[in-house]
Amino acid sequence: MLNLSYYMPVKLFYGADCIKQNACYFQSLGRKCLIVTGKNSAKVSGALDDVLQALEKHQIDFIIFDEIKQNPLLSDCVRAGKIAQSEQVDFVIGIGGGSPLDAAKAVSVFASNEMEPLKIFEGNYVNRPLPLILVGTTAGTGSEVTPYSVLNVDIGEDKVARKRSVQNLYAAASFGDYQYTRSLNQSITIATALDTLSHCIESYFSKKSNTISEGFAKQGAKLVIDVFRDLNGEFTDKQRQKLYAASIYGGLAIAKTGTCYCHSMGYFLTEDYQVAHGIACAVFLPSFLRLGCELDTKKADELLFELDDNLSNLCDMIENLTQYRPIYLTQTQKNELCERWKKDNKFASSPGNFTVADAMELIDEIFGV
Ligand code: NAP
Ligand code: ZN
Repeated sequence: MLNLSYYMPVKLFYGADCIKQNACYFQSLGRKCLIVTGKNSAKVSGALDDVLQALEKHQIDFIIFDEIKQNPLLSDCVRAGKIAQSEQVDFVIGIGGGSPLDAAKAVSVFASNEMEPLKIFEGNYVNRPLPLILVGTTAGTGSEVTPYSVLNVDIGEDKVARKRSVQNLYAAASFGDYQYTRSLNQSITIATALDTLSHCIESYFSKKSNTISEGFAKQGAKLVIDVFRDLNGEFTDKQRQKLYAASIYGGLAIAKTGTCYCHSMGYFLTEDYQVAHGIACAVFLPSFLRLGCELDTKKADELLFELDDNLSNLCDMIENLTQYRPIYLTQTQKNELCERWKKDNKFASSPGNFTVADAMELIDEIFGV
């Protein structure tokens, strides 16, 4: 029997000028809001101007918290939550790439709950999170439609801020307008598109996938591959449209399945070596794609038919775009990774019986022994 279970509570407004055209939605959430964003993305993309016009039109007060960094810190979300409480805002708006959007999800929890910060990862909150609107400015994470908030934990014992995910935070509504991605430079556009491709391919071969998520994953992967295949210099507007659509498809797919081992393995490259998230995941993507195709030839045939390409070309394309620099890991570092990955549930949802030993073998294969 077909497995068609799927849950998606986010109201998605999509397309050029979707904020201007749906400005009245903002007033349905209250009279005062906190805007959560990074230093520049909201301004240079034009998204902040569009949001402020919508707020002004409907006489909604606002305060701006623009201190979210790349790979958002839990402590910054707690701080913004306290501001939201003292200012008695009714709702939260996140504007930016995955970092501000994920941060805004966490802020919506801290804004309505007095709680020990690490409890956010347990999921049961006394009070409902404040309503949340998200406005994306990168075409990558799909955070607009996922329930995940990936935070770097800088509170507690760890010396390095490690990534941890909250699993259950959907926005009330998201606005997706590719025009905000025009101000992204070439390297961030490529890194974020590789993140989308990782979402689509990991989700497609995930043990948690079903017919619906696989459909989204194939659509998203096809759009990204089409863009990369035709890429010749700067991204065109048409290509940016395709990448933004792909990022939403990828988000819709991982909302059902989560990600697999490319994401868990990529995290340490971001935390310890400051590699951009999309590149860090894509380092492990060719091996994942080969493994998925080897273990499920029927699924592989369907995907390769959709992408109109062969496995070896696709792996070469990803490797060329990723351009990772080999790193040297000491035995102590490898032992630490083993300890972390033992507890990682993304390994279990990867195809086959992917183990920590397989992961270590892959590390040696990619970076050298
Ligand atoms: P990001 O970390 O949000 O932003 C990367 C850089 O791009 C920042 O310097 C940012 O500036 C800049 N930027 C963003 N939009 C721009 C625009 N339109 N024009 C010019 N510059 C712009 O990048 P991201 O790849 O979208 O997000 C990565 C984060 O998302 C990671 O923490 C990752 O773990 C997480 N993630 C979440 C999910 C999920 O489902 N929730 C899925 C995958 C990944 P500012 O500093 O000014 O903002
Ligand atoms: Zn990702």
